[in-house]
Amino acid sequence: TPIIEIRDLYKIYNPGENEVRALDGVSLQVSQGEFVAIVGHSGSGKSTLMNMIGCLDVPTAGSYRLNGQDVSELSDNELSEIRNREIGFIFQSFNLIKNLNALENVELPLIYRGLPAGRRRELAVSALERVGLAGRMDHRPNQMSGGQQQRVAVARAIAAQPPLILADEPTGNLDTRAGARVFEIIRGLQEEGNTVVLITHDEGLAKKAGRVVRITDGRIDDGQAPGGKEIF
Ligand code: ADP
Ligand code: ADP
Repeated sequence: TPIIEIRDLYKIYNPGENEVRALDGVSLQVSQGEFVAIVGHSGSGKSTLMNMIGCLDVPTAGSYRLNGQDVSELSDNELSEIRNREIGFIFQSFNLIKNLNALENVELPLIYRGLPAGRRRELAVSALERVGLAGRMDHRPNQMSGGQQQRVAVARAIAAQPPLILADEPTGNLDTRAGARVFEIIRGLQEEGNTVVLITHDEGLAKKAGRVVRITDGRIDDGQAPGGKEIF
């Protein structure tokens, strides 16, 4: 069953004279349990597509169903609720809260989900164990290496066991060794049955995913349509 169903999606910035078609008729399906990398050069439309998939912005036209629900025309509040319920985000820049320790950072999104304190603690501890940080729960971000901070961010993304993990250049700020470790954790998530969408400009990284979707000038070729071309 598809978790992501995008049909003929357009995102047009500055409509009129100086319009930019950041997404120019994108169709994409991602099935439950897939690990898909969306790869493209700078300016190809990756961030724009990531913002659509992540329900951080709405398209100019087209439809998007996430986990069966049409999310292409929701209000900001509704989108925020969908994000919280359906998606675990991993960003390039970790985005941890600096005066909270690792455990508190991971627990934070669970509060918005209305889980009781005991359950929050249980899920957060288990997620931190999963990323190899059982011994760092009371460390604040500035007491950890970049690799450790990103693993806290991974734990935060997976703690509530959301249907979709969305990772935007998750290794972009890490050295080779720490990046490889974070990537292996993300790949492991898929092996455990999670759906993972990775956004990257890094071809080498993308090739390690289960499926590579290339975006060029706001158009994609998802390698599945007959002849290797999307029809739109
Ligand atoms: P990528 O993430 O692959 O670098 P983006 O999605 O950021 O690509 O950008 C795709 C295109 O849309 C680029 O031409 C970029 O200049 C343009 N663009 C992105 N955001 C905006 C915006 N807020 N206003 C106008 N143009 C934008
Ligand atoms: P990782 O492989 O998880 O990135 P490292 O091997 O780079 O971890 O770091 C080893 C130890 O050094 C970490 O446990 C951490 O406590 C400490 N450390 C590394 N970098 C930093 C940093 N920038 N600030 C504070 N502590 C750091």
